[in-house]
Amino acid sequence: MAARFNVREAIRVAALLFVIMLLAAACGQEEGPAPPDASANTDAAPTQPAAPGAAASADVRADGTFHIVATTTQASDLSAILSAGVDGIEITPLMGAGVDPHLYQPTESDIRAMNRADMVIYSGLHLEGQFDAVFAALREQGTLVYALSQPVKDAGYVIGGFVTEQYQAGTDDPHFWFDPRNWELTVTDLAQTLAELDPDNADAYVANAELYRTQLQALFAWADEGMRSVAEGQRYLVTSHDAFQYFGSAFGWKMTAIQGISTEDEAGVRDIQETVQFVIEQGIPVLFVESSIPPNTIEAVQAAIVAGGGAARVGVRELYSDAMGMPGTFGGTYIGMIAENVLTILQSYRCAGAGARIPDWPQAIGIEPPQELLEVECGSG
Ligand SMILES: [Zn+2]
Repeated sequence: MAARFNVREAIRVAALLFVIMLLAAACGQEEGPAPPDASANTDAAPTQPAAPGAAASADVRADGTFHIVATTTQASDLSAILSAGVDGIEITPLMGAGVDPHLYQPTESDIRAMNRADMVIYSGLHLEGQFDAVFAALREQGTLVYALSQPVKDAGYVIGGFVTEQYQAGTDDPHFWFDPRNWELTVTDLAQTLAELDPDNADAYVANAELYRTQLQALFAWADEGMRSVAEGQRYLVTSHDAFQYFGSAFGWKMTAIQGISTEDEAGVRDIQETVQFVIEQGIPVLFVESSIPPNTIEAVQAAIVAGGGAARVGVRELYSDAMGMPGTFGGTYIGMIAENVLTILQSYRCAGAGARIPDWPQAIGIEPPQELLEVECGSG
């Protein structure tokens, strides 16, 4: 058994070294894990070895508290909603509002938290592009690492790789949550998983999921009605990175973006030129900045269009793409994020002179948009 343990330990240390090396590097472009180094001493908490695959029967309350680490804002939000009313559960979020998960590198304290966790909940489909080595090491030591995208992938609702010339050719599009029907699949599966892991509270997880699914269904119907109120030929969403394919296919919109499905490669001049040409050809009136991406590429496209004698507005607010809003705000929840995006798109198109109708907010949803989101000044865009 000693030899087997050493292999695991070497893989774990290699992964930790890799992450620490990335943290120390200014550009983060290095590839491949660092070689295992027996002299490396990490301050990560010791972990209990567990057989891989035994997670479902592991005692997640060995110390009385069910420790969950959630990577993205979406993962934190859903974990909190499904565990409402459950005592002795601790959710540690890693990424905050405005953080780009494609580029986010786990810190040493993140790694310590994941090492101590009973369960790590992440988005998956390579969204958390810098976490691969850490997740592999966690799985190797028996930690349950759960991908929110897995039930959607299993159901066949993941959009396959459509970028053919980049490194991620063939990679699935990670932004599956933007179709609320996908998120429903995730809600059901995560609730079942939590119920199996923590059977004393199974009823609470399942009841929370049932209530939340009815809210998601009302959200979908509201968003669908609003998004389809724009004339079919005008339904184009132009953004900085390609996060909205699921959103578009859910609501009948076409997408175009300056960057591909990841932000790991920087946008080049040609990407900007192609977007400018497309926007002019299609007569698209609005471009959208995303809250987790610097606005410079969208601003460059707008400037080029204006310089060429055309006109394109920038949206009345930023869109939430890979990160939600600040905790405690409407946009800091999954439902609020989707709803605020719909409002922002419809209001921006109205400001550009396009017909768009905002449907009445459904009573079935527990939260409602604050007044300041409903009143918008178009300005000059
Ligand atoms: Zn993204």
